[in-house]
Amino acid sequence: MAGIREFSEQLWNGEIDTIFEAHPLFRNWNDRVPEEIDDGILYYKGISGATTLDSGDSLVMLDTGARNDAPAIFEGVRKWRPDHRLAAAVFSHHHVDHIFGVDPFEQEAAESGNPRTVVYGHEAIPGHFDRYRRMRGWNSAINRRQFARPGMPLQPLGEWPDDFRYPDVTFRDRVTFSEGSLTFEVAHDRGECEDSAWTWVPELKLLAPGDLFIYAVPNAGNPQKVQRWVGEWAVGLRKMAALDAELLIPGHGFPIFGADRIRTALDDTATLLETIEGQTVALMNQGATLDRVLQEVEVPADLLEKPYLRPAYDHHEFLIHNIWRLYGGWWEGEPDNLLPAPRAARASEWVALAGGLDGVVARAEELRTNGELQLACHIIEYAVLAEPGSADAHDLRAKIYEERAGEQLSSMSRGVFTFASDSSKAGKRDGFEP
Ligand SMILES: [Zn+2]
Repeated sequence: MAGIREFSEQLWNGEIDTIFEAHPLFRNWNDRVPEEIDDGILYYKGISGATTLDSGDSLVMLDTGARNDAPAIFEGVRKWRPDHRLAAAVFSHHHVDHIFGVDPFEQEAAESGNPRTVVYGHEAIPGHFDRYRRMRGWNSAINRRQFARPGMPLQPLGEWPDDFRYPDVTFRDRVTFSEGSLTFEVAHDRGECEDSAWTWVPELKLLAPGDLFIYAVPNAGNPQKVQRWVGEWAVGLRKMAALDAELLIPGHGFPIFGADRIRTALDDTATLLETIEGQTVALMNQGATLDRVLQEVEVPADLLEKPYLRPAYDHHEFLIHNIWRLYGGWWEGEPDNLLPAPRAARASEWVALAGGLDGVVARAEELRTNGELQLACHIIEYAVLAEPGSADAHDLRAKIYEERAGEQLSSMSRGVFTFASDSSKAGKRDGFEP
């Protein structure tokens, strides 16, 4: 198989797509074997990127992978540098796909009597680990929806972790440390997380933005997750673009080589975020409802066509919701939804007005046949809400959401629609219903 550099070249030129072939989050590279992409730089691509740097006499990791990537990372690093101890690691944020690779090295250190690794992370990370422990069921459930694939059992996704390696050194705005011949300048900007941080290694002109760059529309909208900061994210990207990095190792997606490309990718990503935030704020300042904002914000199509800005994971429209939530509140400005009647009661009224369930199901089928899947979803939803026991309504609903999932570029949308489809196949509107 070709090396990372060649893969990166094909990706940049659009010869490989990020929607399926090189989705930023899928384990799709080299069967989990790390690769030395430059002298002293060992890159691993699992669900996320984890990079190990040789500082001369010790190792430093910039992000450390998910729990089930940890053995492969450890094995790969030890094949590459059998004797150097892991002196330090940086967590770019608290997400579980970035923070579990230190454990095997610390076990090894304990056995050989070496000091533990020093882990650096933003000061908000511990609070988020605490939140994760409190919200385990929720996090398992929402990720089951987000990462749904057809036919998966309708159960929460595994056991959400409850033991975390807390950072040893926390910081608010920035921290700099040296290890061997290398300097690590770690800076904080809010973006995907309250605790997002990015690392600059000047001797190598290496930039590790964490999830502030993922070779796709930034994960700034995610419908089921805590607050994200679209505007501040762009500010961070502009700072990174000014560094003239020669190597960018993203949190997800693949490395980019060369200063021009890196600057372009970071600046374009910042521009996308700035335009969505700017338009949303302008409309909010006119007192617009969320519905109006969603209809009127124009997302530049040329940016979404860039190989590094395809909506492969998050959907650009979701970003608007997060901006709304940050500057506004949970209410979308519709008076009937302020203190709403139950959805099922509303649906029953509409279905009765339409002359009964059969007509509603028939209209949903007509919309589906005409390719108007967005409207078909709304209509069939009323049908199953009004008559949850109707096999006809569930059969059609399963079909409509399956087709809707099939036309999504965003894997997040695909997951949610697939979960809805599979739920109806089991006779439920939501798979987690008792
Ligand atoms: Zn991540």
